[in-house]
Amino acid sequence: MNKKKIITIIMIIILNINIFSAKTYVLGEDINIKYDKLNLFLKELNYDLEKILIVEAYNLDEFTKITDKPYSYYSAFFIPEKNIIITQPFRILKEKNIYEITLTHEIIHYYLTKYTILNEFEQESVINKLLNLNIKKYNKFDKFTQKDMFIYIKNERK
Ligand SMILES: [Zn+2]
Repeated sequence: MNKKKIITIIMIIILNINIFSAKTYVLGEDINIKYDKLNLFLKELNYDLEKILIVEAYNLDEFTKITDKPYSYYSAFFIPEKNIIITQPFRILKEKNIYEITLTHEIIHYYLTKYTILNEFEQESVINKLLNLNIKKYNKFDKFTQKDMFIYIKNERK
């Protein structure tokens, strides 16, 4: 193979990696998440399952470009201004066995941002307790029962 050919092939590979080809899904239509914690959250707060837009990045490089967040730290991200959830490729989340929990995490942000005045720390604390994440810094509801936490959320309606 001559040099020109090799360079051309390398260019094609690089270009392909950089083409944005994220897929968009609608919750409840293209995607259904079977996860008891999400069902519990919706039921306790009387929220209907809404048609939330979920954008699946084609690869980790694209995820970083769209969200401007490092993929080593974020698996998904809710963008309040656009009302959409951006996620790493589902394949990767499923391999790590965090698909349901990751999407549920962001879906909870969607509802709490839309319907309550809870700030980021409070939202993370709700998620921390409900999903048993045990992250020490999100301790707002550590001394609450789950029931009392839901009452607190209801009282913080917009
Ligand atoms: Zn979060």
